[in-house]
Amino acid sequence: MERIINFSAGPAVLPEEVLAQAASEMLDWRGSGMSVMEMSHRGKEFTGICEQAEADLRELLVIPKEYAVLFLQGGASQQFGMLPVNLLRGKKSADYFNTGEWSKKAIKEAKAFCKVNVAASSEDANFTYAPDASALKFDAQAAYVHYTSNETIGGVEYQWVPDSGDVPLVADMSSHILSRPVEVRRFGLIYAGAQKNIGPAGLTIVIVREDLLGGAAAGTPSMLDYKVHADAGSMFNTPPTYAIYIAGLVFQWIKRQGGVAEMQRRALERSGALYDFLDNSRFFKNFVRKQDRSRMNVPFTLADSKLDDSFLAGARQLGMIELKGHRSAGGMRASMYNAMPLAGVQRLVTYMHEFEAKHA
Ligand SMILES: *Cc1c(COP(=O)(O)O)cnc(C)c1O
Repeated sequence: MERIINFSAGPAVLPEEVLAQAASEMLDWRGSGMSVMEMSHRGKEFTGICEQAEADLRELLVIPKEYAVLFLQGGASQQFGMLPVNLLRGKKSADYFNTGEWSKKAIKEAKAFCKVNVAASSEDANFTYAPDASALKFDAQAAYVHYTSNETIGGVEYQWVPDSGDVPLVADMSSHILSRPVEVRRFGLIYAGAQKNIGPAGLTIVIVREDLLGGAAAGTPSMLDYKVHADAGSMFNTPPTYAIYIAGLVFQWIKRQGGVAEMQRRALERSGALYDFLDNSRFFKNFVRKQDRSRMNVPFTLADSKLDDSFLAGARQLGMIELKGHRSAGGMRASMYNAMPLAGVQRLVTYMHEFEAKHA
């Protein structure tokens, strides 16, 4: 069996070791006589799996005690609405950075609940850079500050953390969580859908400082109240048990590799190989400002877009898929999450080199 090289932005490549382990445990999880999928979420086997996953995530990201870790559903998109409902706490406005497609969606959803102050924007240059720290215009009355720390579609990544003072900072880390060390204390809340860099779709991770819990607006459904989930240890209702199990295997895989610092080293190595090629190419181009380039998602264009289909077909023949850019952006995009082997990127670079020689 040969595994395909999958550059999908999500759901995305997972470590082969994790998939093999899940396969070997599919029918009988460690002598329990059942699959994880068949277990009661309140039984001792699954409770153990969930506690271990949380402990490993806490260890990997060095999450302080005063932060709750929640395993939720609904994707990052549900967080766009849960945030204002829980974090406004009587205030009337929130600060948002407008730096790409995912920021725009978060802003749109928040506008139903509060006034959105755009504290920074890169719309003037078609979302090809992260704003400079000196350009941020915070509103002292804001309930929280929200930004998308890696814009999956535009390929823009903040290599720094904004300073929002005493106002809680909230980050959508869906597409780069666990790919770099992060100082959790700088944030009030971090959220991420699992299907980019963690595991299967269906699981959303929320890391929230406990003093921010308990302020949900009157009438908030229980399922949308962080405190309800925190008090119940993410077992208020049936959590996405199998997705949590796979995420747990991924956390252990990251620990075995050397932790988040090693994930960062590999991300720099992978993306560096592709950016080095792009910078020396006269045929392929990436439009993002150099210092803000994403190490996870690399959009690029061909000098002649009429060759796009032929580029994609040639890649597929060599076992490389999902290189087509997002429908809103066009062009190409290579997503290279933690589980992408360096050899996958090297094969892509070799192919691009040959394609350029043939067509440029
Ligand atoms: C994929 C993605 C989302 C949306 O995730 P869903 O799980 O589909 O809701 C939100 N934000 C970012 C940064 C993403 O990459």
